[in-house]
Amino acid sequence: MSEPTAQIAFAMARLATLQRAAIWRQAGLRGLTATQVAILHALARHGPARVGALAGTLGVTQPTLSDALAALVAKGLALRSADPADARARQVCLTSVGAAEARALDETPAALSEALERLPVAERGAMLRALSGVIRGLQRAGAIPVERMCVTCRHFRPYVHEDAAAPHHCGFVDAAFGDGLLRIDCGDHAEATEEEARTTWARFAAMA
Ligand code: SF4
Repeated sequence: MSEPTAQIAFAMARLATLQRAAIWRQAGLRGLTATQVAILHALARHGPARVGALAGTLGVTQPTLSDALAALVAKGLALRSADPADARARQVCLTSVGAAEARALDETPAALSEALERLPVAERGAMLRALSGVIRGLQRAGAIPVERMCVTCRHFRPYVHEDAAAPHHCGFVDAAFGDGLLRIDCGDHAEATEEEARTTWARFAAMA
């Protein structure tokens, strides 16, 4: 590993430690575990989900997820119901109390939010662009589950507009946008096929 790569990995590890500590602190104060907090946030962001899909999103085993889910159901924060798309399948969603609990739990420590907000817009855009590439590489290596990023979304059309500040297009909302609004986790994401994602990435990366 080159020294710059090691330094970037070290920086990421420091930020992850900060974030994890903040989540543990909040979870402890509210009588929850970190996995339960992650479930609340995932359901709040993406809506109802099947247990298998939720386990994949969070990168945990189904038994681990089921235990955490059972605790959330017992606390009245989540409930299981039939999946409207398939009567034989079950899904899980938040109760109104669970939704309020998710809103009360900050995913990002305030100090980190403030430090990121202080960055110039162009630097935040560059970070989102670079992180999209890193996460895509991890996904392709099978190291992490698929994230709902613009660069893997079939609605994403990079560099189709002449405006340098907003060269990309989101087909879902039919609007142009720039790197600063790239999404790493989008509720409207529609997973592209492998071929579509490869073509999209080639066009996106070529214009760096
Ligand atoms: S739907 Fe979301 S992930 Fe897809 S292109 Fe639009 S903003 Fe990006």
